[in-house]
Amino acid sequence: MMCDENPDIRQQEIAETFREHMTERARTGQEFSLDYAKYRGRCREHCESAIELDPTLRLVRGYYYCLAWGKQQHFWTVRPDGSIYDPTRFQFPCKGEGIYEEFDGSLNCSQCGKSIKEEDAIPMGNYGVCSEACALRLVGL
Ligand SMILES: [Zn+2]
Repeated sequence: MMCDENPDIRQQEIAETFREHMTERARTGQEFSLDYAKYRGRCREHCESAIELDPTLRLVRGYYYCLAWGKQQHFWTVRPDGSIYDPTRFQFPCKGEGIYEEFDGSLNCSQCGKSIKEEDAIPMGNYGVCSEACALRLVGL
């Protein structure tokens, strides 16, 4: 016989492979959420502990461009040689493979796009604007 493959066994193999695949996915998903719970929103705290252990590290505040989530406010540390040590990189699905951008103290007005110093910005929820006029325009007045 040319083909002795039992279709029932084939079906079982497929089902087995699928089950393994799903178990693996569930497992990594679960590990990820543990990392997430452990690190999310606590990046500064973890950086400060890292600096206590290694005072040559410098605390950096800025944005992390996660490959999955996009731009995120974040804290990390930089070694004297300029390389990045991010104690909480595992909170991100891309685990530190994204881009780190140091915050230089300025931001862009969410309404007109003008570059403004953070301390001069008028906070509007998650946004900042340069002037009262822009604040009113942002809320549609
Ligand atoms: Zn503006």
